[in-house]
Amino acid sequence: MKHGTCPKCNTTNVYFKEYALDKVTLDGKGVKYVNYVCTDCGYFETYITDEDALGKIPVRAEKLGDWKKSTITT
Ligand SMILES: [Zn+2]
Repeated sequence: MKHGTCPKCNTTNVYFKEYALDKVTLDGKGVKYVNYVCTDCGYFETYITDEDALGKIPVRAEKLGDWKKSTITT
């Protein structure tokens, strides 16, 4: 999606905007993010661009366990 191609329908009609959709909160605090939308099929993605907030997730996973590391399962 970040490279301009929709992963669902493969068109290149992908647009992005900061804070386009509803507020994103992480652990109760608003974070910076960017929304990508495909104007053909309506698929959208949200990327958190707040490095501080992202950096806290692995720490919380280790200390609190509220976040969990995703692992590949077959
Ligand atoms: Zn699409």
